[in-house]
Amino acid sequence: MTDLAARMTGESRSAEDMLAQTADIVAASLKPLTVKIDLEGYYPKQVLQELGRAGAFMQHLPAVRAEQDHDMGAAIQAMSTVSHECMSTGFAMWCQDTCAWYLQNAANASLRETWLPRIANAEMLAGTGMSNPMKSYAGIEELRLKGKRVDGGYIVNGSLPWVSNLGDDHFFGTLFSLEGTQKHTVMALVDCASPGFSLRQSAHFTALEGTRTFACIFEDVFIADDMIIDDDGGAFLRRARTGIVLLQAGMAIGNIQSCIDLMLDAEPLLGHVNCFLDDRPDELQQDLDDATDAVMALAEEPFETEDDYFREVLQVRLNAAELALRASQSAMLHSGAKGYLNQAPAQRKLRESYFVAIVTPAIKHLRKELARLNEVA
Ligand SMILES: Cc1cc2nc3c(=O)[nH]c(=O)nc-3n(C[C@H](O)[C@H](O)[C@H](O)COP(=O)(O)OP(=O)(O)OC[C@H]3O[C@@H](n4cnc5c(N)ncnc54)[C@H](O)[C@@H]3O)c2cc1C
Repeated sequence: MTDLAARMTGESRSAEDMLAQTADIVAASLKPLTVKIDLEGYYPKQVLQELGRAGAFMQHLPAVRAEQDHDMGAAIQAMSTVSHECMSTGFAMWCQDTCAWYLQNAANASLRETWLPRIANAEMLAGTGMSNPMKSYAGIEELRLKGKRVDGGYIVNGSLPWVSNLGDDHFFGTLFSLEGTQKHTVMALVDCASPGFSLRQSAHFTALEGTRTFACIFEDVFIADDMIIDDDGGAFLRRARTGIVLLQAGMAIGNIQSCIDLMLDAEPLLGHVNCFLDDRPDELQQDLDDATDAVMALAEEPFETEDDYFREVLQVRLNAAELALRASQSAMLHSGAKGYLNQAPAQRKLRESYFVAIVTPAIKHLRKELARLNEVA
C-alpha cells in the first residue's frame, strides 16, 4: 500500500458500497435537481461533493487505494449511474475523475501527494483542459497555450475556449507548449485563483449548461515547478490517454441505458405501433451490453500504453458515441409527442447524447485517429 493509500484508508469504500451509495445520492439528491441543472444551468456542487464522500472519484486511483483494489470499471459504473439520471452531472464527474487521473499519472510525486487526496474525495473540485492538446496531438489544431521557462517555473499565455467543472477555487490539468523548442510540451495543474488567470463565461449551451463551463484566459500566469505534473507532456499523454478516453464510457452507458428505459416505459401504451420503429429496446440493449463488456474488459488495463490497445479503446469509444446517437433518436421516436415537452427526459437525452459525440475525442476525431492507427498497423 502506498503512503497516500494508507492515509486514505479510512475514507476508501468497497466498490459495492460506493455504487450503492451513488444510487442513493442519485435518487435523493440529484433527481430533484435534474431539470434545474438542464434548463437553468444549475451547478450541482453539493451532489458532486456527496459523491466524493461516497468514494465515487477514487476507485480508479491505485495511489489512494490499495494496489490490488483499484478499479476503473467501478469509476465508470458510478458515472453511468449518475449519467442515467443527468449527464451534465455525469460529465462533471468525468472532469473530476480525469483530473485525479492526471495526478495519478504524474511524474511529480510530491504534487500527487499534496493534491490527489483532496481531488479524490471532491473536497477540491477540478477539471481538465485537454481537448485542445488532444486535438493538437491528433494534428487537428495548434496548441493554444504557450509557456516560457523562467526561474522556478513557467509563464503561460493563451486561452482555452471551454473548460468545465471550474470556479474560482477549482483546479484543472492542462498542457502548454514550451517557447523556443520544437514540439516540447509541459503538463501542469492550474489553480484558477492564480494571478493573471481568469474564467470568462462566453457562451451558453443547449445541453450541459450546468457544468460550469468557462473560457480560460492566461495572461502571464506563473506556474511554479511544484505544480508541474510532467515536464514531458507527450510522454504523460501517452501514459494517461487510455484512462482519459475509457472513463468517458460512463457518460455513454448511462445515457444509452436511460434511452432504452424510456422506450420500455412507452411500451404498454404505444407498443402496438412502436413495434414498427427501428432500433427497438431489445436490440439496443444487446448492443449496449456488448459495448459495456468491451469497455469493462479494457478498463482492467488502464495503464496500457501500446498503440494497439489504444486503438481498441478508441474503437469502443466510437461505438459508444454512435450507439448513444441511435438510442437517443429512437427514444424520441418511441416517446412521441410526450418526449417533445420541454421537461421531458427524451429530448434531454437527445441533447446529451450529442455531447457524447462531440466532446473530445469527437466522432470525427476518433475516426481520424483510427484511420491513422490502422494505416500504421
Ligand atoms: C458544454 C461543453 C463543455 C466542454 N467542456 C470541456 C472541458 O471541460 N475541457 C475541454 O478541454 N474541452 C471541453 N469542451 C470542448 C469539447 O471537448 C470539444 O473540443 C468541442 O466540443 C469541439 O470539438 P470538435 O472536435 O467538434 O471541434 P470543432 O468544433 O470542429 O472545432 C472547433 C475549434 O474551433 C475553435 N472554436 C470554436 N468555437 C470557438 C469559440 N467560441 N471560441 C474560441 N474558439 C472556438 C476551438 O479551437 C475549437 O476546438 C467542451 C465543449 C462543450 C460544448
